[in-house]
Amino acid sequence: MSLRLFDSATRQVRDFVPLVPGQAGVYVCGATPQSGPHIGHMRSAVVFDVLQRWLERSGYRVTLVRNVTDIDDKILAKSVEAGVPWWQHALTFEREFAAAYDSVNVTPPTYEPRATGHVTDMVDLIQRLVDAGHAYPAADGSGDVYFDVRSWAQYGELTNQGLDDMEPAGDADPRGKRDPRDFALWKGAKAGEPATASWPTPWGRGRPGWHLECSAMATRYLGPEFDIHGGGLDLRFPHHENEQAQSRAAGDPFSRYWMHNAWVVQSGEKMSKSLGNTMSMEALTRQVPAVVVRYLLTTPHYRSNIEIVDGSLEEARTAYERIENFVVRAAEVLGAVVTDAALADVALPQGFVDAMDDDLGTPAAVAVLHETVRAGNSALAADDKDGALTAALAVRAMADVLGVDPLDPHWRGTVGGRAEDRLRTALDALVRSELDARTAARAAKDFATADAIRTRLSAAGITVEDTPGGARWTLEEKA
Ligand SMILES: [Zn+2]
Repeated sequence: MSLRLFDSATRQVRDFVPLVPGQAGVYVCGATPQSGPHIGHMRSAVVFDVLQRWLERSGYRVTLVRNVTDIDDKILAKSVEAGVPWWQHALTFEREFAAAYDSVNVTPPTYEPRATGHVTDMVDLIQRLVDAGHAYPAADGSGDVYFDVRSWAQYGELTNQGLDDMEPAGDADPRGKRDPRDFALWKGAKAGEPATASWPTPWGRGRPGWHLECSAMATRYLGPEFDIHGGGLDLRFPHHENEQAQSRAAGDPFSRYWMHNAWVVQSGEKMSKSLGNTMSMEALTRQVPAVVVRYLLTTPHYRSNIEIVDGSLEEARTAYERIENFVVRAAEVLGAVVTDAALADVALPQGFVDAMDDDLGTPAAVAVLHETVRAGNSALAADDKDGALTAALAVRAMADVLGVDPLDPHWRGTVGGRAEDRLRTALDALVRSELDARTAARAAKDFATADAIRTRLSAAGITVEDTPGGARWTLEEKA
């Protein structure tokens, strides 16, 4: 069996056949950095990171492009509230997104283009659409340019909708439109908007529409036709429908497969800012280590909603720690053959491969992972070192595909954090025995020995303070 993916354009599971053998081009819609990231944003990034890891593990050379929509109505409005230039506001939150992606071990994309760096590509694309009769400047002189949905018979094909079932596009005053469902490719500059938020075009100054940005950036880095376009389910319509319509109307075949991840919901409601029940990454990682958040986001199937209820985080922590405890114990018993293994060379259990090839079936894949942990624990208990090593390497390699290998240097903050705790405990025991010897020397009036102990500790960077409750030690603060 080889990789099969659910293509949400045809609503069928299809064999993955790349445009160029051995290569895979993937475009994922990235952040609009108007405010900080929540867990829904991280889910999308993690899902397509697992796709990238699985494609690479399957032998493909992957080019993954994830954009930043660094200009948008909300960014402009919020930057005014914050009293900073729009570009500063966008960059501040772009950095927060970058830190959040990194915190859950999302591999940096091959490229991360910003919309504002691709205005010329966008103007070119609009020009092609105008020339082909699929776009027109607004009749009201606003400087907007719209896509003419009635000129493109396939409009609605991605989401399987007829034109008459669709809502009007709420992106501009409909008076300038031929059809209320026509959507803005370009938005003319409005009075009161900062001059830095507009660019010159043949149709006047203005800024790009969101849908157009993604088409232009995907095409620039992946070509007129590429393999997979991904994003959250909420982007299917109108965003992805419009991306596909404008690119195909301009003559580009565009994406061959469409993948959409489901939502993260809290007690049954879609998590979104508008509902006011956002779970920010900052709030989550205060409760559990980031690796547990990653585990929580990775283990359900990407097309199923994740419902966060009381106890979800603890449940994920317990499940992840079963993996971690086995790997750490195996590393203690077996040493470098576990910690320094080249995971790319480790054979994966066939059950895991079959599950991942079946539209990234992570629930079945994670079940194989936990079975292997159980087998490994039994092997350790029976002092079966070969069995334990085989299991430990397989567990690490499977966990690595999901981005949750406990020995991944990325997680040093969590696993290493525990190692640091252990070091501190060991150091405390050693310093305590020195301090006990010092107390005994003083009781015997052997002040020379007592002072020598204190001097020795001080030379090691340990400060001793005598308190009514006994001697306390601290590590000297580094200057
Ligand atoms: Zn997009």
